Order: sequence, then C-alpha cells, then structure tokens
Amino acid sequence: MKKRIAIFGSTGSVGTQALEVIASNPDKFEVEILTAHSNDKLLIQQAKKFNPNAVVIVNESKYAAVKDALAQTDVKVFAGESALEEVATFDSYDMMVAAIVGFAGLKSTLKGIDSGKAIALANKETLVVAGDIVMQKAVEKRVPVIPVDSEHSAIFQCLLGETRNKIEKVVLTASGGPFLGKKPNFLVNVKKEHALQHPNWNMGAKISVDSATLMNKGLEMIEARWLFNLQPKQIQVIVHPQSIIHSMVQFEDGSIKAQMSLPDMKLPIQYALAFPQRIPNTFPRYDFTRSPGLHFEQPDIKTFRNLALATEALHKGGNMPCVLNAANEIAVYGFLRNRIGFLDMMEIVERTMDKIHYIENPTLEEYFESDAAARNFAASLIHI
Ligand code: NAD
Ligand code: MG
Repeated sequence: MKKRIAIFGSTGSVGTQALEVIASNPDKFEVEILTAHSNDKLLIQQAKKFNPNAVVIVNESKYAAVKDALAQTDVKVFAGESALEEVATFDSYDMMVAAIVGFAGLKSTLKGIDSGKAIALANKETLVVAGDIVMQKAVEKRVPVIPVDSEHSAIFQCLLGETRNKIEKVVLTASGGPFLGKKPNFLVNVKKEHALQHPNWNMGAKISVDSATLMNKGLEMIEARWLFNLQPKQIQVIVHPQSIIHSMVQFEDGSIKAQMSLPDMKLPIQYALAFPQRIPNTFPRYDFTRSPGLHFEQPDIKTFRNLALATEALHKGGNMPCVLNAANEIAVYGFLRNRIGFLDMMEIVERTMDKIHYIENPTLEEYFESDAAARNFAASLIHI
C-alpha cells in the first residue's frame, strides 16, 4: 500500500523537496493534499503533475485562477485559512508533511494530530509556540511526530534502539550561518541579500534569516526540548561550519552517537516519509578521505544575542518561547522588507520578551493571545 501524503506548504523549500522525494519513489508514496499560501502558479503545476485529491490556496484572491486552471481535472480546490484546518481532518491521507513556515502552521498541524495522522514535522515554530500541548496531544492520539529538521532527525536516528537508556545531553550542531565570526560593527550594515546566502543550505527566506542571527538554533533548542522530552540544561549548541554532523546524543556512559551525511534536506525528508524504512538513493556521499577536517567552536552569543534570548526563553518556559517566536517573526518580516537593520531584530525580540506578561502554564487560547500581544508590541517598535 502506498503511503498517502498531505503536504502543507508544498510550494516552499521543504515542500518542493518533499515532492522530489515522492516523485523519485512513486511505488511508495502518493500525493493526497497540497497547500500553498499565494504561489498559485507553482501550486497548479504541482497539482497537474501529482494529481492530488485536494489543494488549498490560502490567499483567496488566487482562488479563481487555481480553480480555472484545474477545471479539467478531478482536483478539489479550496481557499482561505480555515480550509487548511478543514482538509487536515480528511480521512483520505496517512501522513502530514508540516512544511508551512511560522506560527501559521500551528493550527493545521494540531488538526492533523487530532485526526490521528502521522506528522513529518518541518514547522519547528509549532513546537516553539505550544510544544507542551502539541506533544501531549500526540501522545493522547498515539500519533508519531517524526522530525524533518536535520538536527532533530539526527537525534531521532541516534535514539533508535536506546529507549531504555537515559540521555545525558544532546548536542545540536549549528553551521554558524553566513556571518560566522563577524562582529556588530560588520553586522550593523548587512542587508537581506547577504543574510539570504547560506553557505550550506538553500532554504526559505525566514529560516535563512533565522540561521544568520542564530535564532534558528535557539528555536531548535526549544523544538528538541519537546520532541525528546529533555530538560533545558540537557541541550547544548556547538558551531560546526561544515554541517556534516547533523547533531549528537551523549548517553550516561559518556558514549556519543552522531548522525552524518553531506547537507541535503532531502535526506531527513525521505527518512521521515519512509520511517522506519531507509530508501536507497543516489545522493552524493560524504567522503572521509576528501574531508577538509571537521571543525567545532563555541557560538558567539554576545554578538548573536538571539541564541542567548532563545536559551533564556527555553529556561523560563511558559509563554516565553511563544513570545520570542512572535517577536522574531515580526522582526524578520521587518528586516526582509528593509525596514530595520540586522541587529535591530535582536533588540526587538529582547524588548518584546521584557514587555509581555509571563504566563507559567498557558492554555492554547493563552498561547494565541500571547502570540498576538507579542506581534502587536513588536510591530509597534518598527511601525509596520
Ligand atoms: P518556505 O518559505 O520556503 O515555504 C513556506 C511554505 O509555507 C510555502 O509553501 C508557503 O506557501 C506556505 N506558507 C507561508 N505562509 C503561510 C501562511 N500564512 N499560511 C499558510 N501557508 C503559508 O519555508 P521553508 O524553508 O520550506 O520552511 C518551512 C518550515 O520548515 C519552517 O518552519 C522552517 O523552519 C522549517 N525547516 C526548513 C528547512 C529548509 O531547509 N528549508 C530546514 C529545516 C526546517
Ligand atoms: Mg535545522
């Protein structure tokens, strides 16, 4: 039986690579649902190629274009934000690839879990915002949440066969991003064109900026906390510019397991899609004899304060990670539109965390309220 896949965020970097994996393995997977925010042209093209049961275009002004283009097909076309949640409850698929970017992916992912679907999780913000509630629901519904994020996929793979063994700590590797080694006097002038050029990975705009500020690693610490049920002090970050070791787990005997490969998101994506199977592929292999040497160093959290702020949010818990995430989404939005500078992003996150009222054990509703309050405050700082 083929696994029926629903890709939420199919027009993005992860979404398109998930479709490449599916196209290479037509005996194993078929596409059931595709969703996009506004890229109607690519969504139409994908729908024609993969013939899903349904597509969603969130931006309603693009509905007519998608509907018309697919009029000769059997593909059902939906539009609007609420349609995301609606299709997430469909019986007709087995696994959701949660590849929407940001807080916007939370509700549909929760609906998928509620409907008992296995989740291949790329959308880390879902766990940053409401990780306790999301993972609790996954346990209740007995749905597997399989990480797509390369670091978490690495940890997940290192933990196989270790269910009875305690984790001493996990070590998340960070590439350091395009500004590794740079200081504030340089960073004050960088523009989005520089920030979007990541040395090892080709990703969407938001996560590329997050990688440049090290916020991405901060979000990943919080993601790891919930995925693997860790205490904050069990999570360490180390800069590893080659991105060959994707992360590590250290056990109580001091033994460390690592997962390695050349950096290519298709690998963690296909691992999550096919889990527990491994699919043969022809991706280029890492060659130790031609390696320039693997290098490790401490992250510079004085310069890249976002990592320090995320660590603080991780330790404080409650609604702080949600507030951090919301402020960061606004700050990145402002930076991508050239409204604010690179270092201003960290300032906005810090001021928003100071401002928003702390809640120790938020309900889902309170997470939504914290998100909205943090967005409003952060936006008031940059007048967008
Ligand atoms: P992207 O910007 O390339 O794509 C985002 C997708 O989400 C698009 O299909 C877009 O249409 C959709 N989308 C955007 N805003 C939306 C909204 N408000 N409502 C509904 N849909 C919306 O992003 P990406 O780089 O593919 O990243 C997706 C997620 O995966 C992020 O959470 C990111 O942190 C995570 N991730 C990405 C990579 C990577 O290599 N790109 C690696 C690890 C984790
Ligand atoms: Mg990652």
